[in-house]
Amino acid sequence: MNQVRRDPPLPEADPELWRLIEGEDARQRESLRLIASENYVSRAVLQACSASLTNKYAEGYPNRRYYEGMDFIDPIETLAIDRAKALFSAEHANVQPYSGSPANLAVLLALCSPGDTTMGLALPAGGHLTHGWKVSATGIYYKSVQYGVRRDDHRIDMDEVRALARTHRPKLIWCGHSAYPRELDFAAFASIAAEVEAHLVADIAHVAGLVAGGAHASPIPHCAAVTTTTHKTLRGPRGGLILSRAEHAAAIDKAVFPGLQGGPHNHTTAAKAVAFAEAARPQFRTYARAIVDNARALAEALSARGYVLVSGGTDNHLLLVDLTNRGISGRQTSGVLNRCGIELNANSIPFDQRKPFDPSGIRIGTAALTSRGLDTAQMSEVAALLDDAIGHAAATAGAGDGGFCQAMRARVREFLQPYPAPGL
Ligand SMILES: *Cc1c(COP(=O)(O)O)cnc(C)c1O
Repeated sequence: MNQVRRDPPLPEADPELWRLIEGEDARQRESLRLIASENYVSRAVLQACSASLTNKYAEGYPNRRYYEGMDFIDPIETLAIDRAKALFSAEHANVQPYSGSPANLAVLLALCSPGDTTMGLALPAGGHLTHGWKVSATGIYYKSVQYGVRRDDHRIDMDEVRALARTHRPKLIWCGHSAYPRELDFAAFASIAAEVEAHLVADIAHVAGLVAGGAHASPIPHCAAVTTTTHKTLRGPRGGLILSRAEHAAAIDKAVFPGLQGGPHNHTTAAKAVAFAEAARPQFRTYARAIVDNARALAEALSARGYVLVSGGTDNHLLLVDLTNRGISGRQTSGVLNRCGIELNANSIPFDQRKPFDPSGIRIGTAALTSRGLDTAQMSEVAALLDDAIGHAAATAGAGDGGFCQAMRARVREFLQPYPAPGL
């Protein structure tokens, strides 16, 4: 009992775990983080994540709860909802989804019946599992038709989307992606959806920050609903968000709770509210623009070094590099680079000849580096670091010499030293 009363801080209470957290902090500080779905949140967002709100149950919605004691939880969730609506100019917001995948499931539950047909961008073409890929619940409980990208320019073929929609008459069409470097034509998707009377749903998990910051067009005017994660370019806590037209508000709220989830994670809701306020500031517009400028500068620098980019470049925060002409696989490359302090992921490229677990490409994103304050002037050095490490990976056939990797880690640390990691 005394032990509980004493309530020591984490480093003392659980030194074994604390050391691991400190290790992760240092790793995030010292490595070149290029995973396109990751970022650094602010100290303010981190603080909200660890608030006492985690102790509270709050099933239901503000002013319609199944528990007492909502004096502060209700205003917090209302603040998050109002900020989300204002940030994205949306009629309705549900801030409770635990993450992006549950947000997508909730939209399906709200707008479709099991067995209905949906359409989405295929995973190998840059889509997400939850847009109907066969191993996902979204591809098991719903009939899924998948569209792809063109072989020649790796862009979504809107003629194919229209033809498939006319043939299969889907109830819902997803547009959105996890590994597609180009901006989507939401108006074109909307006209196809209208023609076949389908709900159009945009999943902007990757580009939500670019939309919030005005660097990309908003899908809101074109869609029945828009889903997103809050932790990628948006720079919020790990979580999900659903925006929708007022007409779907009741169905979406009912699908999230009680349809899919129990009590909302109030500490995460609070951190989302903090992040939405941060994203509404003028500096965030500069940030969103800088992410895109950095991606373009990095694309140009890598192209100049002979790297082949899927679709030839990028409009957003990410690039996909086809390593076929380098004689090394994506997985071998990402493994060696990780030992060099450069963090990115192996990724399938369109029409990949290799298996998904060891594909031909790597995916590179600029959101996290931009959060550290790097700008286009630094992208040529990022390209040089990548080129040296990839060259070494190829020369050692993915083995990666320990001395080389250690030297690279030091070079990366030194390069990043003037750009402190936010929140850490
Ligand atoms: C990341 C992502 C998700 C899923 O997010 P989780 O929070 O990992 O569940 C959904 N859709 C798209 C397009 C994504 O990129």
